[in-house]
Amino acid sequence: MERPHNFSAGPCILPLEVFEKASQSVVDLDGSGLSILEISHRSKAFIEVMEKARELALEHLGLKNKGYKALFLQGGASMQFLMTAYNLLEHKAGYLDTGTWSANAIKEAKQFGEVIVVESSRSQNYNYIPRSFEIPNDLDYLHYTSNNTIFGTQMTTFPNPKDTPLVCDMSSDIFSREIDYSQFGLIYAGAQKNMGPAGATLVVIKEEILGKVTRAIPSMLNYKLFIERKSMFNTPPVFSVYVSMLTLEWLSRNGGVASMEKRNRKKASLIYNEIDRNPLFEGFTAKEDRSMMNATFRLKDPELKKRFDNLWVSANINGLNGHRSVGGYRASMYNALGEESVKVLIEVMRHFEQTI
Ligand SMILES: *Cc1c(COP(=O)(O)O)cnc(C)c1O
Repeated sequence: MERPHNFSAGPCILPLEVFEKASQSVVDLDGSGLSILEISHRSKAFIEVMEKARELALEHLGLKNKGYKALFLQGGASMQFLMTAYNLLEHKAGYLDTGTWSANAIKEAKQFGEVIVVESSRSQNYNYIPRSFEIPNDLDYLHYTSNNTIFGTQMTTFPNPKDTPLVCDMSSDIFSREIDYSQFGLIYAGAQKNMGPAGATLVVIKEEILGKVTRAIPSMLNYKLFIERKSMFNTPPVFSVYVSMLTLEWLSRNGGVASMEKRNRKKASLIYNEIDRNPLFEGFTAKEDRSMMNATFRLKDPELKKRFDNLWVSANINGLNGHRSVGGYRASMYNALGEESVKVLIEVMRHFEQTI
């Protein structure tokens, strides 16, 4: 059977060769006769996996030898909503509210100190990224969500006039484009959007921003401790780290972040051109804030939904339904999604236009 064109928002598509190698290693890791799932996380073989994954993550972000450490933690990106605040928020933090995930991060941070929402696009159902806002000059850190997975908006610049540590949730666009990652003090990303299976969260931290809060931090939530223990304080999510490593190796073989950006730009321009051209559809977000990763759109006439849904389902397309808070459709086009899948979707949209 041909594999479906998978536009799922997360967990999402990964390269087929990664799935194949991972499934092999579940039975026999590199000819050892043992499964990746049954070896000790303290074994030489697994320590190599963890170190490789940490190193490749820094390498692909251009952060090697720049004072950063990469960790693979558990609890998803949602755990980072509180862990960042636990480790960094002493007095006051600023947050830009650009979607559900930002709002969740704000809610958690409020338990640890004063939270200033520097601006919010909530009243417009988060269909744009606020551009002009004031940033107080006494923040412990400023938090952004680089890509709003649910609404389909993406930040292109990260205002920081005061040299405040920037904390960024990059769950849904990490490794998808070239930006200056060294402008951030802390980056976090749940693996399941663009890197691996659910279960691990990548956290990349500039070490110098730590150690500034006075509260006691429980071991399992303490970045410093996880840095000291090379991300092995307790049993790490071994399979998720392993598959993330495979994806990062795939990224190396395929030109790295620069080449992903080219591919992602091409896919995004193809789909948005069709959304704008096709009289039956309209985009959800402000054009200048459109996400390369998650394209949100809807039918101008909702009555046509059943007919369109039947068409894309029979074209072997999966995961196109929008998030319940937005409705309509969402085409998630992460690194591993091929251009041909986007072309199939566009064909379906054109065919639909002709049959109406
Ligand atoms: C999916 C997502 C999250 C939540 O991730 P979990 O790993 O499920 O906690 C947070 N932020 C963004 C931007 C996301 O896309």
